Amino acid sequence: MDKEKSIQLIKDLSNVRGISSFEDEVTALFKDTVKDAGIVSEDHMRNIFVKHPANDGKRPVVELDAHSDEVGFMIRAIKPNGQMMFVNVGGWATVTIPAQKVKVRNRDGEWISGIVSSTPPHFMTAEEKTRLPKPEELSIDVGASSADEIIDIYGIEVGAPVVPDVTCEYNDKTGLFLGKAFDNRIGTALLASTMNDLASEKLDVDIIAGLSSQEEVGDRGAEVVVRKIKPDLAIVFEGAPADDTVMPNYLIQSGLRKGPMLRDFDSTIVTNPHFQRFALDIATKNNIPVQRSVRTGGGQDGAIINRYNGAPTIVISVPVRYAHTPYCFIAFEDYQNALALAKKIIKALNADVLEKF
Ligand SMILES: [Zn+2]
Repeated sequence: MDKEKSIQLIKDLSNVRGISSFEDEVTALFKDTVKDAGIVSEDHMRNIFVKHPANDGKRPVVELDAHSDEVGFMIRAIKPNGQMMFVNVGGWATVTIPAQKVKVRNRDGEWISGIVSSTPPHFMTAEEKTRLPKPEELSIDVGASSADEIIDIYGIEVGAPVVPDVTCEYNDKTGLFLGKAFDNRIGTALLASTMNDLASEKLDVDIIAGLSSQEEVGDRGAEVVVRKIKPDLAIVFEGAPADDTVMPNYLIQSGLRKGPMLRDFDSTIVTNPHFQRFALDIATKNNIPVQRSVRTGGGQDGAIINRYNGAPTIVISVPVRYAHTPYCFIAFEDYQNALALAKKIIKALNADVLEKF
């Protein structure tokens, strides 16, 4: 895919809206993007499967994973004054939520603009000014003054999905995107581009892409996808939180523009060291910059895939500055390097290589 098209795809994937289980806009865009890359199917959980056209069922099966959902919110209750209580869907720090612009999907599928309401300083007590609001003190306001208005005029009901209202920008000079949901729409872009670029390649393995739903609420889509694909090997594409604004130099493991991050350890997986070494050696041989990370927390779909039947699994992540907040930065060069590395790895895989892992 040429540069212009790749940039447009990343922008489009950032802009589509889909919290866990409401990924329809994301899956529609993904399916359209990979329509010529193989046999595409979808299940009722909104998991998408793409089978490489040359799969023969006799070779090792490589699962390529990314998740399609983003962190957001859901309307929990409508108060008599038209303010709406909500719950977090996925992990949020409360400090990043108040006063953000959001979109709420109504029963007709329209996205209504609103804000996370906060008390103006004029009405705050001295104590309130010094502390964060508690999550239960926050609500979403679309400008209504009564519950009837919310239901009858705005068409919003309990259970409505909510996402940050952010439009993705690309800066040609810096090569940076500023937008929402790069965790994990950048992984979604990598998954689509890998399948598209390899569609007419002769490989020594069968590859099946699984775009999994509901990662942000506990890897639920991946649990179903792995049972359907039954992989012998897996590569997970992620948008991992960048640490270069919060860590001292010697602890930076996912800095912007420093290349894709290959995870050695997090709280859910110890990466198969043989597969990890194989991937790192391919990066070195091809002059692709990579970063390694040993995390003290975190987790992703790879753990679920790895535990299903022990398939060696690596995680290739693009660093995302300010993941799980409304506004994030990613670098196009990190995406390009992640894509180049993934394709080199897949092309080098065969039954003998797998045997050694
Ligand atoms: Zn996430």
